[in-house]
Amino acid sequence: MRLKDKVALITGAASGIGFAIARAFAREGASVAVTDLDLPRTERAAAQIAAEGGHAVPLVMDVTSEQQVEAVTTEVIRALGRLDILVSNAGVQVVSPLEELAFADWRRVLAVHLDGAFLTTRAALRQMYRQGGGSVLYIGSVHSKEASVLKAPYVAGKHGLLGLARLVAKEGAARGVRANVICPGFVRTPLVDRQIPEQAKALGLSEEDVVREVMLKETVDGQFTALEDVAEAAVFLAAFESNALTGQSLVVSHGWHMQ
Ligand code: NAD
Repeated sequence: MRLKDKVALITGAASGIGFAIARAFAREGASVAVTDLDLPRTERAAAQIAAEGGHAVPLVMDVTSEQQVEAVTTEVIRALGRLDILVSNAGVQVVSPLEELAFADWRRVLAVHLDGAFLTTRAALRQMYRQGGGSVLYIGSVHSKEASVLKAPYVAGKHGLLGLARLVAKEGAARGVRANVICPGFVRTPLVDRQIPEQAKALGLSEEDVVREVMLKETVDGQFTALEDVAEAAVFLAAFESNALTGQSLVVSHGWHMQ
């Protein structure tokens, strides 16, 4: 087991990529704080992990709330004894051309991605510094490195995560904290399923063409990235023990955006 006796806090963990990472971490022996916006979904996710033989604690945490992030991080440390891994994963998407984008939508997307990453990182670092180390993972995107039309705040926010990870890598190095970014290509989750009809309408394409010509066009094989592949990358980075791998970003995308 690669994460035996580790404690991980994952945001947006009731669904999609966050849930897949939570299950993989639990399989590797970690205790996982499954945090998300509402209790029934977090409880369902934690129950499934328990049914698979893992250990998970469900907690409600809106990553844009300073008060909730502070209180929940404190509760995780009290209940599970430590905090070794933070996965800043919670995310939302808005599809709109920039000239029509409401300021409120710009702010909401950036708040979830950047305020959320800042607040959870700050709360986690205090404990990781006390313990003498830890690992911070940000779920970026190929959109941390590329722009796609109609996604202004998402692209800006995901690019911002690269800068934050590099900063945390530098400030955390002397105290045993590493920070890295995983940059998935398109993964079939509710976040993507919702935007297929929205993009089809905005671009005047069929939904099949949005998938084929927009989402998967630049991959080497026309395939969506699997949840399990993103989760495996997260286990690898979380378990990596030295500063040899910090401040980096790993693209997991079937070849879309080769660096
Ligand atoms: P998803 O919609 O399945 O899951 C996102 C989760 O985040 C949801 O459970 C939602 O409730 C939660 N969330 C939203 N706002 C929140 C907030 N303020 N506080 C706490 N939780 C909140 O989507 P997903 O595809 O699994 O996305 C997870 C992450 O992966 C996001 O950061 C997303 O940008 C990123 N990502 C997704 C893809 C993809 O193709 N699906 C590709 C690259 C990156």
